Amino acid sequence: MSDDVKIENPSHPARFKPVRKGKKPPKLLAIVHQSGCTGCEVCIAGCPVDSIELVPGPDPKNPSYQQMVEIDLARCIGCQNCSQDCPWETITMYQHDDAFVAWGNETLSSGLYIDPPPMDEKKNEEIA
Ligand code: SF4
Ligand code: SF4
Repeated sequence: MSDDVKIENPSHPARFKPVRKGKKPPKLLAIVHQSGCTGCEVCIAGCPVDSIELVPGPDPKNPSYQQMVEIDLARCIGCQNCSQDCPWETITMYQHDDAFVAWGNETLSSGLYIDPPPMDEKKNEEIA
């Protein structure tokens, strides 16, 4: 993924799930090293806040690599369950402030976070 700033995808179904409680952000956030993710879904079952989402794999034609997961950083509470449960050791916990750079380095494909709309579109939205 590029270093460009991303925004939460407002149309992803995760945006309709309950938001994280508490004012302080968690100390740690979980980041998936997607190139090592097999899409086995083990981590999804153990997440107490349902913040792990499936995303298509980098090569949908490869049957052993049809899906990966990504983590909704806006909702992760840093419990570390997923990093301990992953049989492939492909989830790492990062300090909150380091997690966003790590996300950029480790994410191949995301449905949760998207590029912001171009400035022209923003202007049109403001005018409408
Ligand atoms: S650290 Fe905990 S809350 Fe965050 S994605 Fe992993 S299991 Fe879910
Ligand atoms: S448990 Fe690990 S390999 Fe399996 S889907 Fe989750 S991150 Fe990917």
